[in-house]
Amino acid sequence: MFVTADIKFLIFLLLLSSFHAADAQSYKCPSPQLTYTANSIFRRNLDDLLASLVDKVTSLPGFFYNTTVGSNPDRVYGLVQCHRDVSAEECRSCAVSSASQLRQVCTNSKVAMFWRDDCFIRYSFYNFFGVADKIQEEMENPNAISSPSRFEPFLLSFLRNLTASATTGGSSPLYVTGAAPYANSLTVYGLVECTGDLSPASCRSCLNNSIDGIRCCTDRVGARILSGSCVVRYEIYPFFGNFSTATTLTPPVTNWSASPAPLPLPASPLGKGGIGFWKILAMIVPIGGVLLVACILCFLRARKSHMEKVRYERETSLLDINGPNQNGTNHEVAMVRLRTVQTATDNFSESNKLGQGGFGPVYKGILPSGQEIAVKRLSQYSAQGVREFKNEVKLIGNLQHKNLVRLLGCCLEKEEMLLIYEYLPNKSVDTFLSDPQKRATLDWETRLNIMGGTARGMVYLHHDSRLSIIHRDLKAANVLLDELMNPKISDFGMARIFSGSQTQVNTKIIVGTYGYMAPEYAMDGLFSIKSDVYSFGVLLLEIISGQLTREFNQSHQENRSLVGYAWSLWSQGMGLEFVDPLLKDTCPARDPLKYLHIGLLCVQEDAESRPTMSSVLLMLEGEPLALPVPTEPAFSNKRTKDRFSRSQTSSVNGITDTEVTPR
Ligand code: ATP
Repeated sequence: MFVTADIKFLIFLLLLSSFHAADAQSYKCPSPQLTYTANSIFRRNLDDLLASLVDKVTSLPGFFYNTTVGSNPDRVYGLVQCHRDVSAEECRSCAVSSASQLRQVCTNSKVAMFWRDDCFIRYSFYNFFGVADKIQEEMENPNAISSPSRFEPFLLSFLRNLTASATTGGSSPLYVTGAAPYANSLTVYGLVECTGDLSPASCRSCLNNSIDGIRCCTDRVGARILSGSCVVRYEIYPFFGNFSTATTLTPPVTNWSASPAPLPLPASPLGKGGIGFWKILAMIVPIGGVLLVACILCFLRARKSHMEKVRYERETSLLDINGPNQNGTNHEVAMVRLRTVQTATDNFSESNKLGQGGFGPVYKGILPSGQEIAVKRLSQYSAQGVREFKNEVKLIGNLQHKNLVRLLGCCLEKEEMLLIYEYLPNKSVDTFLSDPQKRATLDWETRLNIMGGTARGMVYLHHDSRLSIIHRDLKAANVLLDELMNPKISDFGMARIFSGSQTQVNTKIIVGTYGYMAPEYAMDGLFSIKSDVYSFGVLLLEIISGQLTREFNQSHQENRSLVGYAWSLWSQGMGLEFVDPLLKDTCPARDPLKYLHIGLLCVQEDAESRPTMSSVLLMLEGEPLALPVPTEPAFSNKRTKDRFSRSQTSSVNGITDTEVTPR
């Protein structure tokens, strides 16, 4: 039979991709700035935790193991999950080697995850058990599939069916593999799996989120979406089944385009000499050479196509930014030359680095005029980064308010995507609340100014600007402070414009920060101006109590969130106990009770009952007499499984993503 060179090459690539897939491994140290020191208690607890996990894997049957060691603030939480088709011995050996590799790649990190095909290991300083994690890693097979537009609906429906089988029914295994025939006698193989600590509803939420994320890669013949609590994967070859020790003989090549730096692989069991060894070596070397060349080709092809995709997005960003916006007016953001920014930031020197956000680092710079700037350098290779860039420029380029951070300009040159803001020397509110010494400098007057200014910024976003905008990620880390401690809201990468007649929008992709997300948004993907009001309420409670919600959750043993704690004290008439003790010298005796009351009105479970930001501002600035009585807030308890399951069963699958137009 005649086979063209292209088809031969394709078959070769397919074989190659299946061959390498067995080796894929990845890791994530999601908060590299949160580290422990060599002789700390945390370090000792972590050592004990990893040893105890390995002990459990060795001595107990099963596939999921979790434990905690130590007490707050040095408590460590960890888990190991082995894939269902590995033997007990393979599970043990994977756990041992992953635990040691995790220590090497996430040196001193307080949060770390490590995925292999046969097991997954994770630890953290905060309690993540039972909580559906967000997407941490996308890994795509570099080989393209033909007709992706036809493939995508097939793939999504296939993976959703697997998710339904994994999360419904009496036993809810939280793990399912399957195969489905696709066109041209191609079969697609899929796997969905959650860690054993999740409830079926949380598992479904994690998997649905990952399936939405897999849209990134539906033009590929295979992909994996990895999170800290679930995995979704598909290929066009059967990749599940026994992981025999033979897979460890494959060369240490990873051709998964999103894979981080190559990791050391376990030693080959063929390490001893002998005739068998030389024979095998003679066979492996030429094949290995050919595979290596093919791998390099694959990598170059994948990189080229990815770069083309990102370049296309960048070019359309330029058009969007330079052309008229959805309002019919022109954007007012200045394009700045890369050379100017490089000089201003001393070529993005480490000493000028102000911090690291989810989409890239932020640097301080000084323009030739002497003006100080903050430059956000968005990840050059991420399509997500391009989206963040577009969104931020299109939204805040048109906004001007003294309580919003000003975007001074942007730069799209060579591979760089830079956003240039006014520089705010006092950083964010969370840096004050998380440090007792800095917190002591936040007297009551300053806190009132921060609460009022942030509320004014939000009123402007929701009601007063030409557009109606929902921020979607309001939190203490996104309220920056100028030299006079005036607050300015930042980070509009996730914000959405609302049309005048709309009251709420559904989204499949839930972005934001746990602890600040309103219940209807976290559980059903429904967001509105009232979900921002919820986040504002959490911020108020943090400022009054001097405690960040994430730190409260970690440091308090009781099963109560910061919001729940505020409610319980207020409803028993003991609201003053909630107030930051550091305020006792600067705060009039009963003043904070009014603000606690307003905070509780903002975090009520029913979005309709929450006030609008304009009413909140009136309440903050007016007399305390006529405030309505709040009802019990959502998320009073840290564990919200029951509520999640109630809502997830009814609505997640029916959610639609709506494109929203401005007023
Ligand atoms: P994420 O984007 O993942 O929510 P984040 O809000 O902390 O995280 P960025 O907005 O990228 O991330 O900011 C990173 C850090 O840079 C902030 O914590 C802040 O300290 C600093 N920073 C950001 N913008 C400015 C600015 N305009 N002036 C001074 N410092 C800033």
